[in-house]
Amino acid sequence: MNVTVFGTGYVGLVQGTMLAEVGHQVVCVDVDAEKIAALEQGVIPIYEPGLEGLVKENHAAGRLRFTTDAAEGVTHGDIQFIAVGTPPDEDGSADLRYVLKVAETIAAHMTSHRIIVDKSTVPVGTADRVRARVAEVLEQRGRAALTFDVVSNPEFLKEGSAVADCQKPDRIIIGTEDPESVEVMRELYAPFSRQHEKIIVMDVKSAELTKYAANSMLATKISFMNEIANLAEQLGADVEAVRQGIGSDPRIGYHFIYPGVGYGGSCFPKDVQALIRTADDIGFDSKVLKAVEARNAEQKTTLFAKLRAHFGGELAGRTFALWGLAFKPNTDDMREAPSRVLMEALWEAGARVQAYDPEAMEETQRLYGNRDDLALCGTKEATLKGADALVIVTEWQSFRAPDFELIQQQLSQPTIFDGRNLFDPARMAGKGFTYYSVGRTPGA
Ligand code: NAD
Repeated sequence: MNVTVFGTGYVGLVQGTMLAEVGHQVVCVDVDAEKIAALEQGVIPIYEPGLEGLVKENHAAGRLRFTTDAAEGVTHGDIQFIAVGTPPDEDGSADLRYVLKVAETIAAHMTSHRIIVDKSTVPVGTADRVRARVAEVLEQRGRAALTFDVVSNPEFLKEGSAVADCQKPDRIIIGTEDPESVEVMRELYAPFSRQHEKIIVMDVKSAELTKYAANSMLATKISFMNEIANLAEQLGADVEAVRQGIGSDPRIGYHFIYPGVGYGGSCFPKDVQALIRTADDIGFDSKVLKAVEARNAEQKTTLFAKLRAHFGGELAGRTFALWGLAFKPNTDDMREAPSRVLMEALWEAGARVQAYDPEAMEETQRLYGNRDDLALCGTKEATLKGADALVIVTEWQSFRAPDFELIQQQLSQPTIFDGRNLFDPARMAGKGFTYYSVGRTPGA
């Protein structure tokens, strides 16, 4: 099938590539000419395990093309995916400017029936807005007779395992009232739905809400567990024991109940905010979601609070080794990353940071490269030299079994602030460390 994808970010590039991989003819369109030129050369703008080889193979096979030419894209695909960003507006609502711009572009160039698919995460009612915008532009062009459908097909991939998630999705949500569109979408996704039926068809609004409900549920689990962790810390309980105690109940499960330093990334923060805003707009007070967001904002400040308490409020002139900058492992994405909140607070207090991340160094350089209170180090070990303490923010695999002797030698005081509970407090004490973690260190 001929497919066009607007937007070559985490979602568009991965989805476009996976559709090409199963044999569809895919054209990816982006307004970012540099990105398109890089992709044409086989340079992948994001870090996503397994993606680079697939892009190169499918590009070489002629099934995956990249262009900035929107007209070419609209002519190519019977199915037109909109996979552009929907960043938060100033009031927290989803900014639909890019989505609606693509809708206009499709309408400006289409000459026959098109299925327009909202792949971006968009609030309930967006498909109606896309439909109205397309109809308006077609009317202006004197092509009001052209037919089209707008389908909601939200994406559930996770950065860091996006390729695998697209290859083997848990479910494929298709929101439309048009039976013909359902058939076309079933055919498109048939290669991904072989083992058992993954496709769930529903009305457009329910499909749009499903995406927000899923992310909000996951964010709720994280904030809930962080609340329990803070409580455990004050009560003298061990949140890791509690986590295992509750996770063993299959109704709760082990997923997404790890305490930490708050959720970040491009999705949870903005999607929770956008759903709160959607509710506000219709006069509905979303009490749970507001609490989830408030707990998360506070959680991102807990490491700093522990550092400040440990050093008696005197952070100016101190140097901290920081491991982990990306908002989670296996990505280079630093949008809304807890590391940023921590670093900015440390700088504000007059401290220096020596930082390392396996993948997010370039992104950190882009964001903060001009600061002289930040040193970007080539290895995790290089961050330690002369630092007053080590702070672990992201749980990369390569941080799990470090050389503790070296850490002890290099730090000016053997102190670790662990935002991800990677180590056992008793063993750390045995090794001579002052060790702070989340929900396990009474009195810290
Ligand atoms: P992104 O910011 O990585 O990429 C968006 C791309 O769209 C950019 O390359 C940008 O240049 C391009 N773009 C903007 N306007 C355009 C236009 N008019 N024509 C063509 N291209 C245009 O975004 P992302 O992370 O891929 O997210 C896209 C959407 O998918 C968002 O709504 C997001 O919430 C949702 N989503 C993201 C994830 C994730 O893990 N990143 C997961 C599920 C859903």
